[in-house]
Amino acid sequence: MRESSYPLVTVEDALAVILRQVAPLPPELTLLHDALNRVLAEDVHAPAAQPPFPAALVDGFALRSADGDAPRRLIGEQMAGYMAGIEVAPGTAVRITTGAPIPSGADAVVKVEQADEVDGRVAPHPDQGLRPGLGIRPLGSDVQAGERVLAAGQVLGPAELGMLASLGLAAAPVHARPVVGVFSTGDELAQPDQPLGPGQIYDSNRPTLWAAVAQAGGQPLDLGIIRDRPGELEQKLAAGLAVADLLVTSGGVSMGELDLLKPLLERWGVVHFGRVLMKPGKPMTFAALPVRSADGAIDPARPARPIFALPGNPVSSLVTFQLFVRPAIRRSLGHQAAGLPQINAVLGHEFRLDPERPEFHRVTLRREGGRFVAVSTGSQASSRLLSASGANGLLALEQAAGVLPAGVERPVLLLDDVWLSGDGKSCKV
Ligand code: AMP
Ligand code: MG
Repeated sequence: MRESSYPLVTVEDALAVILRQVAPLPPELTLLHDALNRVLAEDVHAPAAQPPFPAALVDGFALRSADGDAPRRLIGEQMAGYMAGIEVAPGTAVRITTGAPIPSGADAVVKVEQADEVDGRVAPHPDQGLRPGLGIRPLGSDVQAGERVLAAGQVLGPAELGMLASLGLAAAPVHARPVVGVFSTGDELAQPDQPLGPGQIYDSNRPTLWAAVAQAGGQPLDLGIIRDRPGELEQKLAAGLAVADLLVTSGGVSMGELDLLKPLLERWGVVHFGRVLMKPGKPMTFAALPVRSADGAIDPARPARPIFALPGNPVSSLVTFQLFVRPAIRRSLGHQAAGLPQINAVLGHEFRLDPERPEFHRVTLRREGGRFVAVSTGSQASSRLLSASGANGLLALEQAAGVLPAGVERPVLLLDDVWLSGDGKSCKV
C-alpha cells in the first residue's frame, strides 16, 4: 500500500500555520458604497467638530433666556440649512427649525409645543426650566475636532459608513480584497452546460468555491479546469500565480496515479502541510509558491502566494475551504476574527464517532427554547453535496470510538455568521 510521506497535522495547527503566512493586504481608498463590511486600515480622526455650529435641538423659538416668561416679538425665521443673519435683541424671538444654527443673541430654544404664539408675539410656557443652553446642541457636542472616531481594524457597517460621511469623507482607507483564483483539476470534469462524455461528471467545485470566496469577502477569479497532464498543470498554475493573491485548487492531492499537484508544489515552493487529521478533508494541502516571470525566474519583488490545494470530493473541498481558506481571506481583509464563529449546541439525536479522525459533521441548527439543537443533514459521504446543502453548522465531533447520545453538548462552527433558522423564523445568535 502506498503511504503518504506527509505527517498528519491537527486542524488547530494547520490553521495556525496558515494564519502565520497570510498578512492583511495594503490599504486602498474605497468609496463608501463599496466599503460595507470592509476593515479600516488606518485610524480616522474628525477633521472638524460635529455639529459645526450650535444648532437647534427642536422646532420652536430661539430667544434670550434672561427675558423669562414674558411675551417676545417674533422678528423672523431661521431655517435649517441657512444662516439668516438675524440678531435676537432683548424682547424678541425668532422662529427656528431643528438643526438650524442658533441666531446671535439667542441662548435658548423653546419647543413650539411649549409656547403660545398670538398676534406676532410668542410667550414661553412657565415651568419648562428656561435657562441658557435649553434646546441647543452645542458646537462639537457629538464629535470634537481631531477626535479619533474610528480605529484601524474596525469593520465598516452602516453606522461607521454614516460616521465617515458625516465628516465629509466619501471614501475610506480599507484593506484591499484579495483576488482568489479558483481552479478545478481532473480529466473527468465537464462544464455544466456541456453534455457528459463517458466517465465524466460535472465540475461542481468551481461554482461552490467561487461562491464561498465571494461570501468570505474575497474577489473570486475563475481560472477554469486543469486537466491531469503535467505540462498543463504547470502552465496554468504559473498563470494563476501571476494574477491572484491566493490560489485555491480542488482535486489531485490524494494518492492516485494522476495526483500531480503535491509533487509540483514541492518542486516550486514550500509545502507547509500535506495532510490534516480531519474528516472530511484529510488530503488538504497548503503551500506557498514564489511568483515567476515569463522566463521562469522567481520575481523577488513579489511575496510568495499562498495556495490551498483542497481535496476533490465536493464536500471535502467545501469543508476545508470553510475551515482554512475563509480564515485566510478574512485575514487578508484585515479581520481580527478570522476563524468561523462557534457556539455550543445540544445533539438532537445520537451521533456515531470516528475513532480515526475528528469529524466536522454537517448539521442544521434549530433553536428550541433557549438552546440550539444540532440535527444531522443525513449521509455524510464526502461526495454528497446534499449533506452540506441547508447546513448552517459544522458539528465538531472528537476522534473517539462509540456514539454520543442525544442531549450532550458539543461545539458547532457556524457557517452562517449571525442568522439561524429556528421554528421557521430567523433568529439572532
Ligand atoms: P481527486 O482528489 O482528484 O482524487 O478527486 C476525488 C473525487 O472528487 C473524485 O471522485 C473526483 O471525480 C471528484 N472531484 C474532483 N474534482 C471535482 C470537481 N471539480 N467537481 C466535482 N467532483 C470532483
Ligand atoms: Mg482528480
